[in-house]
Amino acid sequence: MSSFNITQRLSPNMTKGRQGQIPDHFCLHTSGGTFTSAVNTVLNPASQVSYHFLISKAGEIVQFVNIENWAWANGTNNSGGNLDNSRSTLELVRQRRLNANWYTVSISCGDMPAGNPSKEQLNACAWLIRHINRELQRIYGVQIPLRRDRVVGHGEITPVTRSGCPGRAFPFDELIRLANNESSPSTPAPPTQSSTQHTSPAADTALAFKVGDTVQFTGGGVYVSSNASVPAHSRGKSQCRVTHTANARNPYHLVSTDNTRVHGWVVAGDVQAIQSSSNSASVIRVGSRVRLNPGAKTFTGGNISAFVFSDTWIVLQINGDRVVINNNISGTNAIMTPVNIRDLTLA
Ligand SMILES: [Zn+2]
Repeated sequence: MSSFNITQRLSPNMTKGRQGQIPDHFCLHTSGGTFTSAVNTVLNPASQVSYHFLISKAGEIVQFVNIENWAWANGTNNSGGNLDNSRSTLELVRQRRLNANWYTVSISCGDMPAGNPSKEQLNACAWLIRHINRELQRIYGVQIPLRRDRVVGHGEITPVTRSGCPGRAFPFDELIRLANNESSPSTPAPPTQSSTQHTSPAADTALAFKVGDTVQFTGGGVYVSSNASVPAHSRGKSQCRVTHTANARNPYHLVSTDNTRVHGWVVAGDVQAIQSSSNSASVIRVGSRVRLNPGAKTFTGGNISAFVFSDTWIVLQINGDRVVINNNISGTNAIMTPVNIRDLTLA
């Protein structure tokens, strides 16, 4: 496995912080001209553009913007113009109606006129993606799932103005395969005894519970696969152990520990943390189902899209008053939004 170095050359073209968003997409770009001219452009304050990272054909990596700050790479707005969120081909971008720079980590490949990265460039990019995910784990406690809807192109975010960035030839699937395959040898392989699709260890961190956790199944449908939409059985409330996870409609495979016949995949909304005592049922905890109170903002005061208020969400993470909500209970959406615990009500 190759190793690469990152050279830091910080650009003035950035804004501090991320407006309360946690980065949850990698956005790939191509830079026009040579690698050197791309470096000069990003370092020039007059250009008003930046990426977090730029990779040369030889696999050199330059970092221009700290990943805790937002780069001026692939911004969107709600002005109704070419950069309007509604024009994106990505559902999450359309739904969120936030500046896409706030929740993306941007990586550009230089010297790539035909949209084809060199082998070394692609390897460096896969290495960098894993490096960034380790940093995100350290900073935010979560990683970006390594799958096609989270490793996206600039042209999918703003197709009107940037359809050629990074270009149709860019090998997204190959990049994702490399980034997934080169996980460290100490990382246990995902389980293979079931025919369902399992995700990488990195992707699993977007879920509130992990394999081995004991959880409360609150009752409901049990599915034969992580993607099935019609339940095979309906089961009552029981205590279960998580035996597999998947980033899918039904993210948890549970086996009951109290012999109540739960054995299969379930939706996130039917799984909660074990309540330690009967009077703690009113406490918001990881795995709780919650709704946003009217008028709520993000933890740092940003606006929250209307659709978020009309759904019920699962708590992913709690740090003091800061609560990250991610999946909705039907498993069709993931918003990774930090809010104040006082703006939440148990559903
Ligand atoms: Zn671009």
